[in-house]
Amino acid sequence: MATATTLDVGKMRIHILDDGVFVTDAGNLFGGSRKASIKGAMHPVLVEAGDDLALIDAGFGPELPEILVGRYELRRDEDLLDHLDTAGYAAEDVSHIILSHLDADHVGWALSPPSFPNATVYLQKAALEEAREMPEKDGLRAAVPAVEKGVEDGWCELLDSDGEVLPGVRVEVRSGHSAGHQIVWIEDGDDLALYTGDLAPAKIWLDPDLISGVDTDPEAARRNRIEVLSAAESRDAPVILYHEPGDCLVRVRQTEKGFESIPIED
Ligand SMILES: [Zn+2]
Repeated sequence: MATATTLDVGKMRIHILDDGVFVTDAGNLFGGSRKASIKGAMHPVLVEAGDDLALIDAGFGPELPEILVGRYELRRDEDLLDHLDTAGYAAEDVSHIILSHLDADHVGWALSPPSFPNATVYLQKAALEEAREMPEKDGLRAAVPAVEKGVEDGWCELLDSDGEVLPGVRVEVRSGHSAGHQIVWIEDGDDLALYTGDLAPAKIWLDPDLISGVDTDPEAARRNRIEVLSAAESRDAPVILYHEPGDCLVRVRQTEKGFESIPIED
C-alpha cells in the first residue's frame, strides 16, 4: 500500500502533486557542519473547489534556482506540470496560488517564470517585507523582484491577516519558519485537512523541540507547531507534509515526545 495522493474534503478534492526531491547537506537545514546529506520531497497541493482550482506552493520551478546551485541537487523524472497533467489539468486551469512563504523550493513555478497564466498568487505582506530585508544572496530575497512585478501587474495579491482565499480554503499566519508564513486549512462541513507548509514540513518536524537552522524565530516555530498540530489532532484532520519523502499524508497523535504520524493509505 502506498500513501494516498488524493483526498476528499467534503465536496472538495485534493491532489497531492510532486516536483521531485532535493538532496542537500544536513548543515544547510540544521546549521553546523554535519556531513550527512538529507533528502526532501516537494509536494505542492491542488484543491478542486467548485469552479476554482487552487495550488498551494509551487516547487522549485523549471530548474534548480541559480542561488542554490552547488548547495542543493534536484532529482526528478517528472515535474509539477507533469503531475498536474496526470491529475487532469493544464496550467491554464489554475485560478489561485497560495504561497506559504517565499523560499525558493516553494515559489518556483509560480514566480519564475509565472507558469500559470490565469492564476492570482496570494502571500502575506509580512513575508515580502522580511524577504526585502534579507541579504543579497538569501533565497527569500531572490523572490522579491518577481513578487513586486506581480503586485504591479495585478497577478499577485498581498494579504495582511488570516482569511479565506476561497470558500473553505483558509490561510492562517503561523510564523517562526519565516515572517508571514501561512498554513492552509481546507474545510467543508465536518471535513478538514491541513497543509503545514514549512512549519512542520516532514515527519522529523513532528518533534516540536527540533531546532531547525532554517527557522528565523525557532521559539515561535515551536509554539506554533504544537498549537497547529494539536488543532489538527483534535479534529482528526489529515495533514499534508510538503517535504516528506515517505508518507506525506498522515494523521497526527500527541505523544510524550511530540507527535507521531499515522500514514493515510489508498
Ligand atoms: Zn521548504
